[in-house]
Amino acid sequence: MNQTAAVYNRSINAGSMPDRIRRLPISPQGFPVPYFVTWFKNGEPCDDGEGEPDFRVIEARKMKKAMAQHLCWVCGGVLGVHKSFTIGPMCCVTRTISEPPSHRDCSIFSATACPFLSKPMSRRNERGIYDLNGDMLGGLQEPAGHGLKRNPGAVCVWTTKTYHPFKPPGGGMLFSLGRPTEVLWFAEGRKATRREIMASIDSGYPLLEEIAREEGPDAMAALKIQREVAMALVPDR
Ligand SMILES: [Zn+2]
Repeated sequence: MNQTAAVYNRSINAGSMPDRIRRLPISPQGFPVPYFVTWFKNGEPCDDGEGEPDFRVIEARKMKKAMAQHLCWVCGGVLGVHKSFTIGPMCCVTRTISEPPSHRDCSIFSATACPFLSKPMSRRNERGIYDLNGDMLGGLQEPAGHGLKRNPGAVCVWTTKTYHPFKPPGGGMLFSLGRPTEVLWFAEGRKATRREIMASIDSGYPLLEEIAREEGPDAMAALKIQREVAMALVPDR
């Protein structure tokens, strides 16, 4: 008998949970607590497993450690050759994301079982970022880059052997994704249809166009090419 399942939130499909995620602590609401989350006690950041986790707050120290030691962003375990990113359709166009990679199975679980990623109607929480001293950088911060504040609908698990971190002009850290070895699409916890993927891309694309238009004609032309390249990664049906 699996006693652990009883403590998970009912909205989570614990049956499909990878062992690495099963080993994570469980939040008071019954959700596995990802590696990147900051824990708080009496309003102050504290050691993992003490106090309560705040899923909106990314700990900068963990970002640094994950990058230096090639750790999975979701479970904190060591990554292999293949790295997976759980991304929205717009990130699939720009090939840029504000969070480091995960194991493939951790990424798929995030895409299919995470309340935000798997249920397009749920609202997105803002995540904050702490500096290395534990000071919150100006309250709950936007992720680096032009994080589009819309729920992506369809979610992509982008697996690659290569990626490159870089610092955007506005501060923070972004990751540019290498050529994919596999691209999977999910919506509402199952495989996404082409129609759902296209609806997500079409609804978000004007926002990317708006940003590119401000940057000038070269950015507009580059975006058009990026879109065409991304189209090749959308399944036929
Ligand atoms: Zn993992």
